[in-house]
Amino acid sequence: MSTNAELAAIFAEMASVLQITGQSPFRVNAHARVARILGALTSDVAEHAPTPESLTAIAGIGKGSAAKILEYLETGRVAEHQELLKKIPGGLLDLLGIQGLGPKTIRLLWQQAGVTDLATLQAGIDSGELEHLPRLGPKAIANISRAIEFARKAGGRTRLGAAMTIAQGILAHLRGVKGTSRLEYAGSLRRGAETIGDIDILAATADPDPLRHAFERMPGVQQILAAGPTRLSLRHAAGIQIDLRIVAERSFGAAWMYFTGSKQHNVQMRERAIKRKMRLNEYGLFPDDGRCEEPPQERGVEPVAGDTEAEVFAALGLPMIPPEIREDLGELELAKTPRLIVQRDIKSELHAHTVASDGRLSIDQLAREAMSRGFHTVAVTDHSAASAQANGLSADRLRRHIAEVRRADRLIDGISILAGAEVDILADGRLDYTDDLLRELDIVVASPHIALRQEPAVATKRLLRAIRHPLVNILGHPTGRMINRREGLSPDIAALVQAARECDVALEINANDIRLDLRDIHIKSALAGGALLAINTDAHTAEHFDYLRYGILTARRGWLTPDRCINTWSSEKLHRWLRKAAS
Ligand SMILES: [Zn+2]
Ligand SMILES: [Zn+2]
Repeated sequence: MSTNAELAAIFAEMASVLQITGQSPFRVNAHARVARILGALTSDVAEHAPTPESLTAIAGIGKGSAAKILEYLETGRVAEHQELLKKIPGGLLDLLGIQGLGPKTIRLLWQQAGVTDLATLQAGIDSGELEHLPRLGPKAIANISRAIEFARKAGGRTRLGAAMTIAQGILAHLRGVKGTSRLEYAGSLRRGAETIGDIDILAATADPDPLRHAFERMPGVQQILAAGPTRLSLRHAAGIQIDLRIVAERSFGAAWMYFTGSKQHNVQMRERAIKRKMRLNEYGLFPDDGRCEEPPQERGVEPVAGDTEAEVFAALGLPMIPPEIREDLGELELAKTPRLIVQRDIKSELHAHTVASDGRLSIDQLAREAMSRGFHTVAVTDHSAASAQANGLSADRLRRHIAEVRRADRLIDGISILAGAEVDILADGRLDYTDDLLRELDIVVASPHIALRQEPAVATKRLLRAIRHPLVNILGHPTGRMINRREGLSPDIAALVQAARECDVALEINANDIRLDLRDIHIKSALAGGALLAINTDAHTAEHFDYLRYGILTARRGWLTPDRCINTWSSEKLHRWLRKAAS
C-alpha cells in the first residue's frame, strides 16, 4: 500500500469511528473528505520532504490534517487515530467490512442492541431481536446475515491487487539495503491467486542485520509479531501479515520454490525426488544417502541443485514450471514449459468506459491512454440505460455517442477506436438495446449487472440467451461476482463455453482485481471446451489499465495461451472477426 493509501485508510477509519460515536457530521465529513483526497492523489505525499505549507497547498487539506500527515510520516502513527480507536469496542470496526453495514447502522446496533462485535451481531440476528430496531426489519436483517456468511467465507484474505501493491512497496524499500543479493516475493501472491493470506518475502543477504532492521522499520508496520534471526513477521496497517525469511544464497532457488508452493505441488515434487533417489526441501535438492534421520543440509551433504528454481526442476527432469500453474493440476506432466500469455502479448482493450457513462476519461483521453500502452485498438463500451446508477446511455444518447466515437477515430491517428457498448443482460437474458441499435456498433460486450442472486439454472438460461444473440461479441464479467463482497451468479460454465464456441463469442476475463471474472478454473474449462477468451481491464480511469497485470496472472493460472485470447490478435485478424460476427 502506498503512503497515500495508508493515510487514506487512517482518515477513513477516523471518519467511521467519529460517526459510530455520534460526533458532528461536519467532523465526520471533513475526515472522509481528506481520505478521498489522499486516495486520489497522483503523487506520493511522502515524496519531496513535505512541509505543513506544501501539504496545505493541496486543495482540501487543512492545517490539522497536514499535521496528522506529518505525524504519520515521522512516527508511523496518528495519535488522535489511536485515541479514537479506544472509544469503541474493537470488534465494531470489523463490522465495517460487511457489505451493507455502514457506521450509522453500526452505531444503532451498538447503542440500542448492545452489539459489540461479529459474535454479538450474529446472536442478535439469531434471536430475532434486531428486527425490531428502527430502520431495520426482516429484509435488512436477512441481507446482513447473508453478507456475514460471505465475509466469513472470505476469511480475511486480501485481494490480489492490494497485496501486490504492498509487496512491491516492500521490495522497493528493501532493495537498497546493503548486502542483500536476492529479494523476491513468494507464496500465493507469486502464484497470482485471487486472494492472499500472508505476504511472503524471501531474501538472501551477506549481512542480515541491516535487512532485519529495515524490515521492522518500514512504513505501515503496525506490530512486530516475531523477530527471529532468519524469520520475521509483522502486521501491516492494511491488515495483512508479512513474513520475511532470510536464506543462504546457495539455497535461494529451493527456498523460493518451497515458499511459493502450492502445498499440493510441493508434495508432488518431493515424491518425484524420492522416486529419483533424491531428497527435496527448502535448502536444496540432495542425493539420498539412505540416512533419513537427520536432514542432509545439517550433515554437510552437497546439494545437487538449489541455487535457482530452474536447476532444481532440471535435476528432476522437468521444464521450468511457471509459478501460476503450480497447483497440482497436471503441471508435472508437461514435457516443456508452456507458452502462457504474458502482458506484452496484449494489443487491444475491448471494454472501457468514458465520461459518457461512469468513466473519468473522454474518448480522446481513453484512446491516447490505450495508445500509450501499445494497443492498436480500443473499444468505447459505455453502459446501457438499465445501468442507471452508472449513468447508462439511452438509445438517443448512444446514437450521439457513436457519432462522437467515429469522429475521434477519424481525428486520432495510430489507433482504431471502436464504437461499442457494454449492454446490460436483463434478468431474463434480453439485451437492453434494440437489435437495430446494436447493429450500428462495431463491438457489443454484454454483461450482467442486476439480478445477481438468480438460481444457477435461471442464470445459465439468461447468459445462454445473451451468448446466442447474433450481435454479441463478448460476454463481459460473466458471473458478476465481486471478490470478498458478493458471490455473483453460478451458471453452468460448461454450457456457456459450448455455446460461446458455437456462436463465436469470446468469454471475458475481467482484469479488475475485485472481479477476476471469469476465474482461473473457469478459464481452464473454457480452453478445454474450445472457447475464445478476452482479457479486458474495464477501464474507468487511466490507472485502471494497470489491472491488466491481474487479468494476465489469472489467465496464466487458467493455462491460457496467447492464440486463444482475442486481445493478442493483430488489428486485421481482430477486425475481421468482429465484422464476421456482424454480417
Ligand atoms: Zn460491467
Ligand atoms: Zn464495464
